[in-house]
Amino acid sequence: MGFGNSKPKVPHVLIVGGGYSGTRLAFLLQKETVCKTTLIDPGECMQHNVASARSIVEPEFDKNMFIPFNKIISNHIRQRVTAIKKDKNVVMLQNGKKVAYDYLVIAAGASQPFPAKYENKQDATMEGAKHLYKEFTETMKKAHRIACIGGNTFACELAGEIKTDYPDKQVIIIHHKKNLTSPHVNQEFQDELNEKLQRKDVDLMLDQSVTNTDDLKFNELLENQKVKTSNGKEVEVDLIVPCDQYTISSDFCKPALENALLDSGAIKVEANLQVQGCSNIFAIGHVNNCDVEKTPHTGQQQADLVAANIKASIEGGKLEEYKKGDLHFIVTVGRYDGVGTFGQGKLLDEDECRESKSEDLLSKQIWNQRGLELPD
Ligand SMILES: Cc1cc2nc3c(=O)[nH]c(=O)nc-3n(C[C@H](O)[C@H](O)[C@H](O)COP(=O)(O)OP(=O)(O)OC[C@H]3O[C@@H](n4cnc5c(N)ncnc54)[C@H](O)[C@@H]3O)c2cc1C
Repeated sequence: MGFGNSKPKVPHVLIVGGGYSGTRLAFLLQKETVCKTTLIDPGECMQHNVASARSIVEPEFDKNMFIPFNKIISNHIRQRVTAIKKDKNVVMLQNGKKVAYDYLVIAAGASQPFPAKYENKQDATMEGAKHLYKEFTETMKKAHRIACIGGNTFACELAGEIKTDYPDKQVIIIHHKKNLTSPHVNQEFQDELNEKLQRKDVDLMLDQSVTNTDDLKFNELLENQKVKTSNGKEVEVDLIVPCDQYTISSDFCKPALENALLDSGAIKVEANLQVQGCSNIFAIGHVNNCDVEKTPHTGQQQADLVAANIKASIEGGKLEEYKKGDLHFIVTVGRYDGVGTFGQGKLLDEDECRESKSEDLLSKQIWNQRGLELPD
């Protein structure tokens, strides 16, 4: 056996998590000949979850919400990563097998309860996910009074969608903070969002938390459930939607990356997005501790940078630093309106919000950024 003809082995890049950041990176690196790339995610498809609220009022919109992994990358392992063996450069999978890597990119995001997100699981299918959303649509249609517990972007957008298509329903947002959605937006943004939601007749119960969470049933049609809040108020509703909790998906990083994990679960990264103390492990998107609004936009910017940095590292070049750009953030209020900013604090007008997000919820852009056309 001669050595002369054997091709040099290219480094193996393993991406854990097929959300906005992981699939963008998979798409970019798959085109590179300097490495071989594999995506690991237990599900069958990526969820473009910005489209969740629209898919609840307009079920046909779900064709935009799920992107099969096999359309994005040929090497997809349908498994959950359960541990990292850093000294051996391997990850462990739920089925007990291991996969070796030269570079590891953690893009495992954060979990949020249904219907904000659908949990990617081994036995779940895209059709099954669509079915769950359709069932939820039927539940929502039968409810007259709906409470969203929590005031994140999903809560605001769901309230706006429901009041646009079903103006006779009562929709309440109960939020433990004074301000809705992101802490990164200014007061003018907040005031305009409150005003636009109230103009749609969404009831805002802000600065009060729900005190009887344990007694409540979520996502079920149940007449006259009583929601009690910390300032003594009580409202009766038929449907309660959880819009609050999210959990950063980094449990599998313990104990290997223990030193880089914050109490929140976020992974500490260097300016070039390498995990602290690990030159061949990167973390991108919601899972890292970068002080930016966690959006598809910032996750994808980080994926673009890590694609370039992995290439530079393989070729012996210099790694670049992640630079926080202007805040790109729009909260839709139904399909025709919204509140948004593309930085410098200046607010977008109604037409700009509609064209930039409210109409198609970034769907065309998200599919295109993975080399795909929106399905008909
Ligand atoms: C309903 C909803 C609406 C939103 N709307 C907006 C919006 O309008 N504007 C905005 O800017 N932001 C919005 N966000 C926030 C935005 O979606 C997140 O910032 C974004 O999803 C983060 O992307 P990510 O790539 O980090 O991870 P995610 O999209 O969370 O994807 C993580 C992936 O990792 C996989 N995974 C997790 N653990 C493992 C493991 N152990 N092994 C293998 N795979 C694993 C999961 O299955 C998942 O597919 C919204 C979020 C939700 C839930």
